[in-house]
Amino acid sequence: MKKIVILGGGFGGLYTALRLIDLHWSQQPQITIIDKNDRFVFSPLLYELITEEMQSWEIAPHYSDLLANTPIQYIQDTVTDINLTNKEVILTNSRVSYDRLVVALGGITPDDMVKGAKEYAIPFRSLENAYRLKEKLRTLENSDKEFIRVAVVGGGYSGVELGLKIADRLGKRGKIRIIDRGNDILTNSPEFNRKTSKNALLDRKIWLDLETNIVEIEENQISIEYKNKIDTIPVDIVLWTVGTKPVKIINKLPLPQDSQGKIKINPYLQVENHPEISSIGDLVECKDQDGKILPNTAQVAFQQSDYCAWNIWASIEDKPLLPFQYQPLGEMLALGKDNATLSGLGISLNGDLAYLARRLVYLYRLPTFEHQLAVAFNWITNPIASFIKN
Ligand SMILES: Cc1cc2nc3c(=O)[nH]c(=O)nc-3n(C[C@H](O)[C@H](O)[C@H](O)COP(=O)(O)OP(=O)(O)OC[C@H]3O[C@@H](n4cnc5c(N)ncnc54)[C@H](O)[C@@H]3O)c2cc1C
Repeated sequence: MKKIVILGGGFGGLYTALRLIDLHWSQQPQITIIDKNDRFVFSPLLYELITEEMQSWEIAPHYSDLLANTPIQYIQDTVTDINLTNKEVILTNSRVSYDRLVVALGGITPDDMVKGAKEYAIPFRSLENAYRLKEKLRTLENSDKEFIRVAVVGGGYSGVELGLKIADRLGKRGKIRIIDRGNDILTNSPEFNRKTSKNALLDRKIWLDLETNIVEIEENQISIEYKNKIDTIPVDIVLWTVGTKPVKIINKLPLPQDSQGKIKINPYLQVENHPEISSIGDLVECKDQDGKILPNTAQVAFQQSDYCAWNIWASIEDKPLLPFQYQPLGEMLALGKDNATLSGLGISLNGDLAYLARRLVYLYRLPTFEHQLAVAFNWITNPIASFIKN
């Protein structure tokens, strides 16, 4: 029996495994997912935890529940190395051998760019980050402070979505600013989404500090530089949403990497010179059919998982491989508790309809039919509040 081992049960890894079991095999392989955490995180909905619009079990189901009715094995452990000669993955507590390997360990938020970021700023990437932020907000809300000052570093999707959700949670007590070194926010977004997002920020009186660098972060203050002048301003919470770099372990793995430390792959999503290993998601540099570098998104990882599964199947069943073809489907952003914006496939929408469409698209994207059903049932019994409200 062939052994397919998948490192990382995120958007790349989990969906590859789920796709693999749908394919028609002459002899069923053994499929194993290895992840250091016990839960998959559907990160595009992580913001909903801050406003308590959704619950942890909906956004971050346990692998043991998700995979219970599938033949996929799940091992909770940390990957520490790969032995290419013996075709073995080395984990903290054991070793696992493979015939085909998928490396999909994702990315981290770099915290070494500014003094104090690691100690005092909260990244927003994992369930633990979301819990830490919620706890901090709760403590501040229960204090006698008149205002709660939040600085969100990074004016990309995460910074904007997070800033707006926090603004809606805190209401008039919130004093929120988004700080970015660029001259605009959402620089990679379609004009419609950028404009709608800016209006939403304006409505909530969220301050934008553009062309501004962070100099230092301390426990209750942040130093920022604008036009060569440094200001130190008091803050209660600093959120750190400054992009993605591959997980640290990648530097140690004996796989070919580019200057940014991303794993080099061919159009079939196989690691250069290692056709038995595929790699997808945030830790590879992947190009579309026109040679354009694709962003680190769930949409890319999700589409890669389809090709990755197919090509593993084809390599075992002796069928032709398919080169990865990316289909841009547009982008969606949550703009607080009752609003969203979306642009794609010739459609631009905002307000209630965009809010509902975003929820439904993500419901459809949740892993496994059983989980989709459980979440849908919960939404029916606790209707999507703001939509019904209007
Ligand atoms: C808050 C937030 C919102 C986002 N919103 C959107 C959005 O709206 N649309 C969109 O398209 N994209 C969005 N993204 C980006 C998207 O989540 C990522 O691009 C996507 O998750 C990448 O998939 P991946 O499989 O490479 O990594 P991940 O999904 O991060 O999965 C990696 C997995 O590897 C595991 N792992 C890491 N290291 C080890 C180790 N050493 N041993 C064992 N396991 C390990 C991790 O636990 C994790 O489960 C968002 C990201 C964040 C953080």
